[in-house]
Amino acid sequence: MGVPIAIFLSRYFKSLAASVSLQLIQNSLFSEKQVQVYLKREDLIHPTISGNKWRKLKYNLYAAREQQKTTLLTFGGAYSNHIAAVAAAGQEFGFETIGYIRGEEHFPLNPTLALAKASGMQLEYLDRETYREKSHPDFLRQIEKLHPTAYIIPEGGTNMLAVKGCTEIVQDIPVDFDYICCAAGTGGTLAGIITGLAGEKTIIGFPALKGGEFLKEDIRNLIRNYTKYDLQNWVLETNYHFGGYAKIKPELVSFIQHFKQEHHIQLDPIYTGKMMFGVYDLIQQDYFNKGSVIIAVHTGGLQGIKGLEERLGIILG
Ligand SMILES: *Cc1c(COP(=O)(O)O)cnc(C)c1O
Repeated sequence: MGVPIAIFLSRYFKSLAASVSLQLIQNSLFSEKQVQVYLKREDLIHPTISGNKWRKLKYNLYAAREQQKTTLLTFGGAYSNHIAAVAAAGQEFGFETIGYIRGEEHFPLNPTLALAKASGMQLEYLDRETYREKSHPDFLRQIEKLHPTAYIIPEGGTNMLAVKGCTEIVQDIPVDFDYICCAAGTGGTLAGIITGLAGEKTIIGFPALKGGEFLKEDIRNLIRNYTKYDLQNWVLETNYHFGGYAKIKPELVSFIQHFKQEHHIQLDPIYTGKMMFGVYDLIQQDYFNKGSVIIAVHTGGLQGIKGLEERLGIILG
């Protein structure tokens, strides 16, 4: 048995006072446009179970314990922050972990998978066609039969308990604010933030994938399933995907590098870099009224940087 979840919570999480996790970002653009921008440092929660992936796992870990499951089983790509988070959470709390990875095995393992393996995760590979079946009930029944002691978490970690965990991102924010900005993959995190704010403020989502429209429907469904009603105080800004998921452009790399130099905060190129680029761009375009207070959520994802730097031949730090 690993560390009880309550102890983990007090060690890594409750000690992270809300005021510490909210950081004012200052620069000449923000002063000129008379807006205030804070970064909510969810990336500081844990080095590997970072940011929104911890929020999404929290109640799933409780549920797995309650159901007396001894294994966490999930799905993800080879650079997945969620795979890394599940592997680390399993080690931290005494669950076995199994990761079904999209695509073929490559050696040497990239830093994400090497870390997952070092944390004790059993890696299984699914060809891309089989991987597409990962949410199909028949496929999941087979997996359940194969691994009866496993608590199954979907790709990216998004389910109703993940939405519940993400509602806590917006609890106890110690400043009055108008907007909250957050990157989106599956939209689970955004759905949690929107639900947590219960109709207050305006939430802006920045999809990391091309074609944000399908995401709109997914988020609406998550909110509806969780709350039984609709919430309208949110929008998706779909122009900041930089070509699509895990695609980057030189101006994004340069933005992340400059941001690090100026503020000593690392952004990742898949999610938070694109979101923050979008926030700057919208401020530049006078999207926000003067006097607006904007909170941008740093959802973490820093474990993936090493692997991406290697793969793409870039330096982000
Ligand atoms: C997974 C991830 C997201 C996207 O979260 P969703 O709930 O899938 O929308 C955003 N930022 C980071 C750093 C992530 O790892």
